[in-house]
Amino acid sequence: MTLRLMSVHAHPDDESSKGAATLAKYAAEGVEVLVVTCTGGERGDVLNPAMDRPGVRENLAEIRRAEMAEARRILGVQQRFLGFVDSGLLAPGEPPPDGCFALWPLEEAAGRLVALIREFRPHVVVTYDETGGYPHPDHIRTHEVTVAAFDAAGQADRHPEAGPPWRPLKLYYQGGLSRAWFQTLHDAMTARGLDSAMGAVLDELPAEPAGLEITTRVPCAEYFATRDRALLAHATQIDPHAGFMLHDRDIERQVWSTEDYHLARSHLPVTLPEDDLFAGLRTGPQTPQASGAGAGAGAESGSGMAGSTGAGSTGAS
Ligand SMILES: [Zn+2]
Repeated sequence: MTLRLMSVHAHPDDESSKGAATLAKYAAEGVEVLVVTCTGGERGDVLNPAMDRPGVRENLAEIRRAEMAEARRILGVQQRFLGFVDSGLLAPGEPPPDGCFALWPLEEAAGRLVALIREFRPHVVVTYDETGGYPHPDHIRTHEVTVAAFDAAGQADRHPEAGPPWRPLKLYYQGGLSRAWFQTLHDAMTARGLDSAMGAVLDELPAEPAGLEITTRVPCAEYFATRDRALLAHATQIDPHAGFMLHDRDIERQVWSTEDYHLARSHLPVTLPEDDLFAGLRTGPQTPQASGAGAGAGAESGSGMAGSTGAGSTGAS
């Protein structure tokens, strides 16, 4: 069967800064990968000084679409916009602008993603945890919309206008870059006598790690270079001479060769920890009749099948 992975993000560039090597790896292995971008990033800033020049801010929405198209091509994935307007990073007390993503009623916003889930029929969905991973209203809304859509998509009586039900089997949250990640990279670079810009970052991070338990570490170091190229394609957002671009890539591959996830929901029995987002869905030798249209039948038949697709050797074969 063809496995399908949907990764839901708030803005163009988030797919390249969170879990991009995972997406490139699965795409290269033949998994169908769809990035969903909730907003157009219209209210983003120009974060790369080299791109802060006449004509860029005025045309930011259009430029970010072109950047997204290039990153999509580099990662080897499909990509769709959900069509919401960026809420912008708000000052404390500042109200979100009229019509922006954060102000849409949750059920209505989730309906758009339900339609896309039913069209693409992912087995696995990835998004942010409840903190958004980053205190931007669109990131938090992306979490809320994705969880609501994940739960609704398999129920025929929810959003009946959005197509026949499809129930994805697993939902993951991005692990993000943890304090442990920064500390490990910082220690490895200083031990080799290299400058690390991460000392300042570590000083600002809370001492206690965030509460998200990592259940799943996906080895993907051979796709870090692809991740970097996709990141740099978002030229208005990524300064090649600052931040994440500064650490030594060989050292990163040696000391932290995975991207990390938290399994938030599963309709399959799982054994943790995992090293594969599709753990439990893969079967042994492929049989011809197990591929194609029949493959999704177990998941497609809605909540009545809850728990019974478990073996993975039948329903999700
Ligand atoms: Zn974002």
